[in-house]
Amino acid sequence: MASSPRPLCPRPRPPVVCPLPLAVSVRVRRSCVPSRSPSPSAFAGRVSPPARRLLPPAVCPLAAPAAVMVFQCQRDSWARQFTTRVASCSPAELPAEGGAKEPLRGFHVVLEDTILFPEGGGQPDDRGLIEDIPVLRVTRQGPAAVHFVQTPLEPGREVLLTVDWDRRFDHMQQHSGQHLITALADLMFGFKTTSWELGHQRTVIELDTPSVTAEQVVALEENVNEKIRAHIPVVVREHSEDDPEIETVRSRGLPDNHTGPVRIISIEGIDDNMCCGTHVSNLSDLQVIKLLGTEKGKKNKTNLVFLAGNRVLKSVERSHGTEKALTLLLKNGAEEHVEAVKRLQNSVKLLQKNNLNLLRDLAVLTAQNFKSNPVRGRVFVLHRKDGDSEFMNIIANEIGTEDTLLFLTVGDEKAAGLFLLAGPSEVVEKLGPRVAELLEGKGAGKRDRFQGKATRMSRRAEVQALLQDFIGHQTLEE
Ligand SMILES: [Zn+2]
Repeated sequence: MASSPRPLCPRPRPPVVCPLPLAVSVRVRRSCVPSRSPSPSAFAGRVSPPARRLLPPAVCPLAAPAAVMVFQCQRDSWARQFTTRVASCSPAELPAEGGAKEPLRGFHVVLEDTILFPEGGGQPDDRGLIEDIPVLRVTRQGPAAVHFVQTPLEPGREVLLTVDWDRRFDHMQQHSGQHLITALADLMFGFKTTSWELGHQRTVIELDTPSVTAEQVVALEENVNEKIRAHIPVVVREHSEDDPEIETVRSRGLPDNHTGPVRIISIEGIDDNMCCGTHVSNLSDLQVIKLLGTEKGKKNKTNLVFLAGNRVLKSVERSHGTEKALTLLLKNGAEEHVEAVKRLQNSVKLLQKNNLNLLRDLAVLTAQNFKSNPVRGRVFVLHRKDGDSEFMNIIANEIGTEDTLLFLTVGDEKAAGLFLLAGPSEVVEKLGPRVAELLEGKGAGKRDRFQGKATRMSRRAEVQALLQDFIGHQTLEE
């Protein structure tokens, strides 16, 4: 795995408590999910009513969002649109990411409340629009959610927020799926979850066990999907921090400085878990979960890889596309693909072996043909598109380099390739570097051989002229 899973969900950050009595009026509902499970399609086009403005900035001396520690996206995960007001807007930079070299300049916008989830607890942040302005990142800063945009917004202005629903619903399916798998892995096998990561393609749960058997994976997947079919409600409750009930739920304990309500996500009869994320309201919203298997994790841990909901459909779609393409290429049914590829690999290996043998025979014959020519010159030049270093060296070995200067090249005539200069040591040592220079390549040699890579094979004629010229002068001097 490229990156390690993130820590489990932290509790909501402690709020900044507004000293005015009005701040006390910021209350959260004890249960904020519909009692009946809505399917994703049932919410198509649903628009949330405009939000009650929690704290008018003019009244509370603290910024209004400071008191909002449970955001609208957490109270109603299904809200796709929401009307709120700009609390503040200040110049900001988004650090360079995804290959970009320069940070992005823009603005940090804080709203009175938001339906765009700021990243947290392993769940990535949402994308969306403030009016028609794209929100490129949402982060937590203290109790506030900060929206990065590239167009300034005037504080006090009423704005319509729209969440990128495909992205959000995907995150809801993966996150609630993680809660379900985590709970059942613990109930069935006592495997505790130590962290998880919601990736772009797949989600990973780190289990505190050195191994998980294939049978356990199958049994877990069966149980997970059985629970999905049983359409069990998922309920979000907010408890006061001194509620004894929160001591009984799955978590690593509240931080020492925690104040304010605690969110508990309950999968009825299966799991209670403190979490800040956005969740589905019924397991049936998960549609299906596919456990892709396990990978070795950190020391004594095992990573369990899974897909939930629409990701399963997309994965099947991709696999089916690949299967159709392979059926066309291999001209047989899907169940025979693996065998067909194995056969192809074997025949490629055999062909490569035959090709190598033929190339060696050709090298020997080429050398013998040259040596049997009574009127051969002192320079032997040969270029072959297909060939390798071995091919060139066999020719050099067969011809011998005491009397003959050889210039051999292989590769694309108009592009890059390999070259070998062989002959009397004093000539090769002198001309080798010049040949490499002419071919705009690099090479190295010892005594009677100088070989290397050329980037300009098209300049072979110039090398040949240089060699003929050199030998011509040498012959005259003799
Ligand atoms: Zn969670």
